[in-house]
Amino acid sequence: MPAKIIDGKAIALEIREQVKQSVLERIGNGQRAPGLAVILVGENPASQVYVRKKKEACVEAGIVSKAFDLPADTSETELLSLIEQLNDDHEIDGILVQLPLPEHIDSTTVLETIHPDKDVDGFHPYNIGRLAQRMPSLRPCTPHGVIYMLNTIGETYKGRHAVIVGASNIVGRPMGLELLLAGATVTTCHRFTHDLAEHVARADILVVAVGKPGIVKGEWVKPGATVIDVGINRTEAGKLIGDLDFEAAAQRAAYITPVPGGVGPMTVAMLLRNTLQASNKHC
Ligand code: NAP
Repeated sequence: MPAKIIDGKAIALEIREQVKQSVLERIGNGQRAPGLAVILVGENPASQVYVRKKKEACVEAGIVSKAFDLPADTSETELLSLIEQLNDDHEIDGILVQLPLPEHIDSTTVLETIHPDKDVDGFHPYNIGRLAQRMPSLRPCTPHGVIYMLNTIGETYKGRHAVIVGASNIVGRPMGLELLLAGATVTTCHRFTHDLAEHVARADILVVAVGKPGIVKGEWVKPGATVIDVGINRTEAGKLIGDLDFEAAAQRAAYITPVPGGVGPMTVAMLLRNTLQASNKHC
């Protein structure tokens, strides 16, 4: 029986509409619209696409987005000084620095300079620490988006085994924290994991976030599992594909996300939610 598709695009649209209504309510109460600063350093084409999508989503939701498109040779000191200014700007509720940054800039220093209350990507160690300690505040957008999707299909988590393939700071690790918080039993696999197929075969909930097409084979998937593909890869023909062998996995899974149209739109929707949340804290 082929899996049911989890339509991230449709779920994300609902969230974006909810954010838009909340923004209208804020304005109706005499408060200003939420403000998001979007910083892009350099001209990475993929980053330009992501930033454009985020800005368009802000406009549509009534969030004021302020763009800072900086040249690739911007120094770390200049970038940190801009972030300090934005930390003190009362009309800016969220600060987003699009990754990756040019090599001469230390992304850890940059992310730690963003005030945790304005950290709408949820990458600051303070926000990750709060998530780890079961007191989430601003949560990393992609893992939170995955949890939102799982909730929409009625995932119960408790007594269920979640396996995450990939352990990056922005997806795999916080995904593990989210699933643990939700009550699942969690295994995280990374480049030093032996017998990936065996781990995958035990997953009731499988999240793949590596950035290598075909890293997880469809035939490894446990029958009836819920499968979330976070990976985004472009083929030579320009087609977007995930990390999973979708057709084969869909023959075994109960639920599966497509690429594109799965996790990607959820990431943008959760960014809007985080910006609204941050603005409600700042008023
Ligand atoms: P990343 O920083 O490159 O991290 C990749 C992770 O995969 C690392 O933890 C790495 O392990 C692990 N890995 C590498 N080879 C492996 C192997 N053979 N077996 C198991 N794990 C392995 O990438 P990322 O930022 O997490 O992104 C992952 C993918 O998700 C990319 O395709 C990216 O484009 C996509 N993405 C999508 C969204 C979305 O909204 N849909 C958002 C963010 C990212 P080590 O930690 O040991 O190096």
